[in-house]
Amino acid sequence: MTTFHQVKIGVLSETQQGERRVALVPDVAVKLVKIGFQVIVETGAGVGAEFTDDAYRKAGVAIEADRRVVLGTADVVLSVQPPRLEDVAQLQAGALTISFLQPATQVVIIGALAARGVTSFSLDLLPRSSRAQSMDALSSQSSLAGYKAVLMAANRLGKFFPMLMTAAGTIPPARVLVLGAGVAGLQAIATARRLGAVVEAYDVRSAVQEEVKSLGARFLELKLEIQEGEGGYAREQSEDFLNRQREGLAEHVAANDVVITTASIPGRRAPLLITASMLKGMRRGSVIVDLAAESGGNCAATLPGRVVEVDGVWVDGTTNIPSTMALHASQLYARNVTNLLQFLFSNGELKLDFADEIIRDCCVTHAGQITSERARQMMGVSAAQGAIRSEVR
Ligand code: NAD
Repeated sequence: MTTFHQVKIGVLSETQQGERRVALVPDVAVKLVKIGFQVIVETGAGVGAEFTDDAYRKAGVAIEADRRVVLGTADVVLSVQPPRLEDVAQLQAGALTISFLQPATQVVIIGALAARGVTSFSLDLLPRSSRAQSMDALSSQSSLAGYKAVLMAANRLGKFFPMLMTAAGTIPPARVLVLGAGVAGLQAIATARRLGAVVEAYDVRSAVQEEVKSLGARFLELKLEIQEGEGGYAREQSEDFLNRQREGLAEHVAANDVVITTASIPGRRAPLLITASMLKGMRRGSVIVDLAAESGGNCAATLPGRVVEVDGVWVDGTTNIPSTMALHASQLYARNVTNLLQFLFSNGELKLDFADEIIRDCCVTHAGQITSERARQMMGVSAAQGAIRSEVR
């Protein structure tokens, strides 16, 4: 039996360019230490998020300069981005990893994790159920992105967001349109409202109408069929639907100063909501922040990781926005991961009950196999291939 007292948690320093987050922060590490886990953190892992090695030491954590020691001795390895291929080779067979594994793009890494006999959990596959809510790192990070997107737009817009009555006359409030009212979109609406903008929003799922209205925004009625999918997500829309949607949206896109786009379909290319001709209809100085930049973009002019100007309209395709708020992003991520760990190690013993939807959906590799059906679908791997190590190497 594995108990807390025998379990060593290792925390990696993130290596992906621009990634400032860390998977565990000192005030969350202290709780894990208190319940009996041993924690080891790679030197400097928290620096990008403003957590010094000393802060970890004070939390009862050991600091280790050699990444290979963290990888090779930890029973549980935590990171935000997936471990690298050379990292996987250092892991103990039977070790457990938790990260955003991103199965659609990390086919080779996942194959290597399976081949090494590592049990890997991917937080981006967590079911969107109330039981899993406290572990939902996708939501916590989306919330940060929605908030920051509005600040980025406000920063670039040459206008006030709130209405102002000044001695020099009245300034009307900025107008903000939010496309996609999921976790990020709702946080964007709330933030734009707090800054005093007039906000309207649209989503293909009618379930969000009341939430949009309760935040003080107007829900756009486009007279289109509802596109409700499974598990609270939208389903992929046809090109005909998207054409009619774009027609309905064009005048609203043109009328707003800021458009925040957040529309996405898990595992698919993001739907195109703003075409080049719609962009031409916008006033000079308007700003689009495209939170779907990484998955193809909601705007035709979006370039991932760049801000471009098209006929006077700014299109911001900044990627990994949560990393720009690394302190809170890491704190929330660490809490999500810790809640998952406490769920996995209930009563001090690691339990993997594959009948439980959290384990079934979120566990990508175990005992040499790619166990998650959703991961296999995203990777384009069949169940038989997922079960045979050599074929996925
Ligand atoms: P997401 O990031 O996959 O998508 C963002 C939004 O884009 C969604 O609201 C989707 O409906 C919308 N969208 C897709 N295509 C569109 C289009 N063509 N036009 C306009 N909008 C479009 O989703 P998400 O924000 O991660 O989550 C979606 C929903 O999942 C939440 O709003 C909630 O209902 C549910 N959820 C539940 C839990 C939970 O119960 N624990 C946690 C998180 C989310």
